[in-house]
Amino acid sequence: MTKLALITGGSRGLGRDSALKLAEKGIDIIFTYHSNEQAAQEVVSAIQSTGRKAFALQCDVRNISSLDTFKQTLSTLLDKQFEGHKVDYLLNNAGTGLHAEIEQTSEEQLDEMLNIHVKGPFFFTQKILPLIADGGHIINISSGLARFSFPGSAAYAMAKGAVEVMTRYMAKEFANRKIRVNTLAPGAIATDFRGGAIRDSEQAQSMVASVTALNRVGEAQDIGKAVTAMFSEGFDWITGQRIEASGGMIL
Ligand code: NDP
Repeated sequence: MTKLALITGGSRGLGRDSALKLAEKGIDIIFTYHSNEQAAQEVVSAIQSTGRKAFALQCDVRNISSLDTFKQTLSTLLDKQFEGHKVDYLLNNAGTGLHAEIEQTSEEQLDEMLNIHVKGPFFFTQKILPLIADGGHIINISSGLARFSFPGSAAYAMAKGAVEVMTRYMAKEFANRKIRVNTLAPGAIATDFRGGAIRDSEQAQSMVASVTALNRVGEAQDIGKAVTAMFSEGFDWITGQRIEASGGMIL
């Protein structure tokens, strides 16, 4: 039976590349986007051209009260397009960044980081858990910034720190259904993230390269490949763990 992955924030960046790489491995894809419907449709077309099924659903992971409706939409899609098959792999990836030092961070900014990175994946996973297959695998995307510290990242990194604790609790509680849960923590990756702050700045790229063992910034495909590896049977005995894909940043 063809495996099925659900990815939040699959329209751009790391989620997009993960969707494309998983499809190349023969996995069908459902992914969410927030506002960029055109980018989402381009990903759908790219996946369909490989012969795999692909569907894009709109979702704002901050809007907890909308998640019951999202679950119903997903359930209907699974019934109609996947013969009631459940989701084998969930990638909790959607998110935005923030650069603000603690003295300049507003309550609204901290709430935004906690809403999108903590409450979002917590309740998204809670709602769709009945639609995840027994023996499935969940990856929660964290960040290298939960391990090392750069000024201006406190609110974002605190939220990602919570993601890593959440992963361990999910791994413990979902183990009764043999669902594994792991954290993937990327280092700095050149995407649209934070307005392209890494991608569009040579200075930021050389700073990152200078503190990275493999001496370059990451690309979306580095994370797509890591996700594909983690959603393979080589990871069957691994749960509750944090894997960092940063090329060895600040070792
Ligand atoms: P991008 O900005 O390239 O893509 C973000 C994705 O998330 C888009 O698909 C976007 O949808 C979606 N999204 C944004 N806001 C919401 C929302 N409120 N609800 C649902 N979906 C939303 O970011 P990246 O791909 O770089 O980042 C993906 C994840 O990786 C994030 O969790 C980020 O924190 C993490 N990360 C990124 C690093 C980096 O350096 N890039 C490093 C470490 C971790 P739409 O296209 O519709 O806007």
